[in-house]
Amino acid sequence: MQRRQFLKTVPAGIAAASSFAAASFATASPAAQVNTVRGERSPRALGMTLMHEHVLVDFIGAEKASPERYNSEEVFQIALQPLKALREAGCRTLVECTPAFLGRDPKLLERLARASGLHIITNTGFYGAANDKYVPALAYRESANELAVRWTREFREGIDGTSIRPGVIKIGVDPGPLSDIDAKLVRAAAKTHLQTGLAIASHTGDGVAAMEELEILRQEGVHPGAFIWVHAQNETKEQFHSNAARQGAWVEFDGISDKSAERHLQLIKRMAEQGLLDHVLISQDAGWYHVGEPGGGNYRPYTFLFVSFIPMLRQTGLSAQQVRALLIDNPRKTLTLQIRRIASTRS
Ligand SMILES: [Zn+2]
Repeated sequence: MQRRQFLKTVPAGIAAASSFAAASFATASPAAQVNTVRGERSPRALGMTLMHEHVLVDFIGAEKASPERYNSEEVFQIALQPLKALREAGCRTLVECTPAFLGRDPKLLERLARASGLHIITNTGFYGAANDKYVPALAYRESANELAVRWTREFREGIDGTSIRPGVIKIGVDPGPLSDIDAKLVRAAAKTHLQTGLAIASHTGDGVAAMEELEILRQEGVHPGAFIWVHAQNETKEQFHSNAARQGAWVEFDGISDKSAERHLQLIKRMAEQGLLDHVLISQDAGWYHVGEPGGGNYRPYTFLFVSFIPMLRQTGLSAQQVRALLIDNPRKTLTLQIRRIASTRS
C-alpha cells in the first residue's frame, strides 16, 4: 500500500546550516526566507500581503516585448503613488505577477520597492495562457528540463544580469485539456520547484486545467501545497475549489474589485464553511501601467481590498483571525522557500 507524505525541506544551497534538513519534516527552519526584489527577508517581515497584482504589463506578444517599448522613469512616476497609498492602507508586501515577455522589469520593481517602502516580489517562468501569445520560441525548442535549468539559474544567479532573484514561479495555462506546450511549462515549473522551493503560481483557465496541473506536479513528485491556482474565481463549479484545497493546493480568488466583491465574498464564505480557509489566497489583480497606451492607460488603485473589502469580510461573519489567515499567514506560508515533495513510503 502506498502512503503519500508531505516532506517539507529547505532548498539545497540556500544555507549551509540547512544541508542536513533534507530528510526532516521540519516546518520552521532558521534558514527560512522569502526572496524580494531587495533581497532575502524573514517570512515574519512580510505582514499583510497581496499575492497577485501588477505594476506594468505589455500585451504586445513575446516576439516584440522589450523594455525599449516604455519609459521606465514615466512608469516609476505613475506607479509610485498607488504603491505608497497601498502601504498607507496597511499592506506590506506585493507580489508582482507579470512574467517575462509580458513586461517583467525587476529593476523598476526594485526602485519602486525602495521608494514606496513595500516589499515587492517578482517571478520566474513563462506564461502559456492567452493561446500562448506570450510564450517565447525557445520554450518550444527546449525540454521541460532545460526550461527548469533556465528558471533555476534566475533563482540562483539573478534575473537578466541583475542580482534580483524571483520569489515565486509564475506560469499560465489555457483551459483544459492542457496543450503540449502548457503541460511542458507546468512540468518545468515542478522541476524548478524541486530545485528552489519557490511556489508555483499558475494563471489557470479552468478547473479541468487545474486538476491536470496538479496531476503533472504529482508525477514529478511535487506536493499540491506548492501550487497556487491563480484566478480560481473564473471556475463556476465550486467543487473544483474544494477539491483542489482538499488536495492541499492554494486556491486564489484574485480580481477583487467593487464590481466583483459580492461574488468574491460568496466564494470565500463557501470555503470558510467547509473549513478550507487555510488554503485560500485573495488579491485584486489591480494596477497597472499598460504599455502602448497614453500615460499607461487606466491604473487601477490597490487599496479597495484594505479600505472596503476587509470590512465586508468581517460583516459576512469572518473573524479577525480568519482575515489574518487570508492576508498574512497563508501568503507567508506560500512564499517561504520550501521544497514540498511527495514521498511515497510503503506500509
Ligand atoms: Zn494578473
